[in-house]
Amino acid sequence: MGSNGQVKHVKVLVLGSGPAGLSAALYAARAELAPVVLTGMQLGGQAALTYTIENYPGFPEGVGGAQLGELFQKQAEHFGATVEYDTASAVDLSQRPFKVTTDSGEYEADSLIISTGADPNKLKVPGEQELTGRGVSYCATCDGWFFKDKKVVIVGGGDSALEEGLFITRYASSVTIIHRREELRASPLLQKRAMEHPKVNFIWNTVVTEVVGTDKLEALKLKNVKTGEVSNFETDGLFIFIGHTPNTQMFQGQLEMSDLGYIVVNDKMETSVEGVYAAGEAADPHFRQVITSAGMGAAAAIQATHFLEAVTA
Ligand code: NAP
Repeated sequence: MGSNGQVKHVKVLVLGSGPAGLSAALYAARAELAPVVLTGMQLGGQAALTYTIENYPGFPEGVGGAQLGELFQKQAEHFGATVEYDTASAVDLSQRPFKVTTDSGEYEADSLIISTGADPNKLKVPGEQELTGRGVSYCATCDGWFFKDKKVVIVGGGDSALEEGLFITRYASSVTIIHRREELRASPLLQKRAMEHPKVNFIWNTVVTEVVGTDKLEALKLKNVKTGEVSNFETDGLFIFIGHTPNTQMFQGQLEMSDLGYIVVNDKMETSVEGVYAAGEAADPHFRQVITSAGMGAAAAIQATHFLEAVTA
C-alpha cells in the first residue's frame, strides 16, 4: 500500500530510471499517459556512474553521465512524467492491471515498461566480496579518487575495462590491465589510447584466483592460464569490469527470458505478456549503449501507447 493506504492505479508504469526508462517516460508523457517511473536503486542507471559519455549524439564535447541522466529526467518531468524514488520488489503479470509491489507501496498498471538494467558481474574468487569497498570496486567514477598515487589493477578486456582504466590514470600512479586472453575485445580507438598511455600496462593470459588482504586489499594471486604459473601481485586497488547480468530475477517464470536472463522482446519491444514491454540492458545483451537503450525505451512507450489506445477503444 502507498503511504495513504491506497493502491495507486497508473496507465504506464516504468521500472528503472536509466536512459531506457527515462526515454520511455518522455514518450509516454508526451502521449499524455502520465507515466510513473520507479527509479530503482540507481537513479539514472549505470550511465549515471560514467564520468563522461562521448558517444551520445548532440554533445560534441561529451557529457557527464549523471548530468545526462538529470537532463533526461527533467525533460520527462516537463511533459508530465512522475519520478518516484522507489524500487519494485515483486510483480504479478498474470492479469491486467498488472500488480507491482514496491519498497513503499503498491501499484496497478495498465501497461508496464521494464527497464531495470543490469549489474556488474563478479569474479567469484575468495576475498573479492570481503574486500569490496576496501580496495575492490566495480565503479571507477565512484571510487577512482581514492586511489590517488596508488597502484591499480583492472580486470577485463572489453570497452568498460579500457575506458574505466584510462579514467583511473587521472589518479593512480599505475594501471595494470589483467586480461584472460592475449587479445582485447575493446574497440580499436580505446585499445590505441590504452596501449599508448604511459601509466597503462598489460598482463595477458592471466586470471585472478584470489583477492588477498585483511582490512584492506594488499595483493592478488594470479594464474597464467597458458603456462599454469602462479604469482603474487601487490596492488592497492582492483577494479573489475567483466560484463553484466540483467536485473530480471523478479520476472522469472512470468516472462520469456534467454538462458542468460535477458527478457526476450520482439522488434516492437513486446515481451511474452501483452501490455508488458522491456527496453535497455534488461533486454539487450548486444549493444548496451545509452543511445540504443534510449531508442528501445522510446519504442516501448510508442507501442504501449498503441496498446492502451486499442484496449480502451
Ligand atoms: P564485455 O564487452 O562483455 O567484456 C567483458 C570482458 O571481461 C571481456 O574481455 C571478457 O573476456 C572478460 N571477462 C568476462 N568474464 C570474465 C571472468 N570471469 N574473468 C576474467 N575476465 C572475464 O563487457 P563490457 O566491457 O562491460 O562492455 C559491455 C558492452 O557495453 C559492450 O557492448 C561494449 O561495447 C559496451 N560499452 C561501450 C562503451 C563505449 O562505447 N565507450 C563503454 C563501455 C561499454 P573475453 O574477451 O575473453 O571474453
